[in-house]
Amino acid sequence: MADLPYSFEPATGYNKYKVTSILRDYLGMLMEQPENKETIEQILTLIDGYTNQLRTLRQTNRLETTKEVYKAIDGFFEKAPAENKKAIQCKSGCTACCFIELDISEDEAALIVNYCRENDIEIDREYLIKQVATGRRSYSDLSRCIFLKDNLCSIYAVRPAACRKHWVNSDPGLCDFSKNIINKVDSYFNIDVEILASALLNVDETGPLEIALLNKLDKTG
Ligand code: SF4
Repeated sequence: MADLPYSFEPATGYNKYKVTSILRDYLGMLMEQPENKETIEQILTLIDGYTNQLRTLRQTNRLETTKEVYKAIDGFFEKAPAENKKAIQCKSGCTACCFIELDISEDEAALIVNYCRENDIEIDREYLIKQVATGRRSYSDLSRCIFLKDNLCSIYAVRPAACRKHWVNSDPGLCDFSKNIINKVDSYFNIDVEILASALLNVDETGPLEIALLNKLDKTG
């Protein structure tokens, strides 16, 4: 399923963090053993630290800060062990994950809108409005990502963190959501990527891609 942000509160009285679904599952697993308390706190402290750093950096340049996060995420994947890379099933032209709802941050929306303007990529506002009305939780023609053109991502250079870090290593058939059947899909797990992607979600407002884009278009005309 799509990598939606989830709220994570390790115990009453702790800060609530938005975390990626993969990190939520991992933290949930750690929580089953009391001896993992320290590890959980280390992870949350890192999210907190990165979030604060990103908030400071974006005051100077929001778009460049988001691009730096993308570069760091890509870098972690480049350095992934060869056997992990070999197991990745994602291929150009496979679009299964482009029909599922995903959330992005306000800065990610700004980066995409900017990129589309610079590259003459039209954003069909009417299509986005229809998607918002229908929602993208079920598979349909309207759940197709607005940027999926000719089975390729037309904004690949600035695709959101959720798309960028989705590296499936289970049977690609399990990704097929066209019959609205949700299968357990496994993907490459890198704790640093999940921490950084989670920090990005805590920096500013996040929301479904289509809503974040409409908000950004409304603000910038
Ligand atoms: S932004 Fe690109 S990779 Fe992400 S869902 Fe849309 S078309 Fe697919």
